[in-house]
Amino acid sequence: MSLLTDEPLGPRVTVRAPAKINLYLGVAALAADGFHPLTTVFQAVGLYDDVTVSEATEWSLRVVGDPRLDLEAVPTDDSNIALRAARRLLAHHGMEHRAAAMTIHKSIPVAGGMAGGSADAAAALVAVDRALDLQTSDDDLLAIAAELGSDVPFSLLGGTAVGRGRGEQLEDLEDAGGWWWVVIESDEGLSTPAVYRAFDELHAQQGTEPDPHALELPTTLVEGLVNAQVDLVGVTLWNDLQEPALHLRPDLRRTLEDAGSCGRGAVLSGSGPTVLVLCASREEADAAREKLAGLGHERVTAVPAPVAGVHVVEHA
Ligand code: ATP
Repeated sequence: MSLLTDEPLGPRVTVRAPAKINLYLGVAALAADGFHPLTTVFQAVGLYDDVTVSEATEWSLRVVGDPRLDLEAVPTDDSNIALRAARRLLAHHGMEHRAAAMTIHKSIPVAGGMAGGSADAAAALVAVDRALDLQTSDDDLLAIAAELGSDVPFSLLGGTAVGRGRGEQLEDLEDAGGWWWVVIESDEGLSTPAVYRAFDELHAQQGTEPDPHALELPTTLVEGLVNAQVDLVGVTLWNDLQEPALHLRPDLRRTLEDAGSCGRGAVLSGSGPTVLVLCASREEADAAREKLAGLGHERVTAVPAPVAGVHVVEHA
């Protein structure tokens, strides 16, 4: 056994995990357990973080990636969700004495409403499983994923799915595929708990209750996805967190207006601040990207969807 912490004790495994978007996000009133029940339609999009793991004598974590991302906001201590995932998996196997060196290569916006942290956790679970040859069953990986966070199980599976409960109760959704999205990133992140608090406060101020039908899956969206009807999907896009996010970040109103001037529909991604434009083809997405760049939006990317969940890209 090597005493050098930077010398790997086993194979180096890199696992890639996609970002998610929400085509529909319906939020019900705060429940007694402190969470908001929701119904959401997740889609995995072609924007990825990579997590590389090899067994080591001590834990270590490095976070690297696109310098335009707010990498400083990603913790490198035990509060990093990918590190928590790795430790949780080893505890599941009663192997707390083992450790790993981990590098996260980020491309998914930080605190952008695209579940970047959840993607890293899902990738870390599979990377540690393979690098340390733990042979965890898929059911156990999914159960541990759900304990780590509501979006982590979907990051494992990818594709298109309905999420219920806190988003962790998943059901595959038929999707004809071939979608293109333009992703408009923001310079600053938004805190998910703060957006949910704004959701509650806005309803309290207005003396309204969240829509009792919010938890019903819109049938038009399901139809549009099955039959590849891009305009139907475009008009059905909905996010109950959009208004509260706009309340916290009024500047996003202009971004949404610009987004609405191209493509087939625009919506805030999750708790924001990332804004999405649905397009019918790669050509349409490229044209939208150029138009948005001309309107002054600097961080704009075109990505395909749906894409697969976590997958091993290197096992050396
Ligand atoms: P949510 O999944 O809550 O919708 P999000 O997609 O908006 O979140 P994330 O990029 O997952 O945002 O990050 C949310 C916060 O989680 C960050 O501000 C950061 O402090 C913390 N965090 C912990 N681990 C990670 C990680 N591996 N990558 C990014 N952020 C992390």
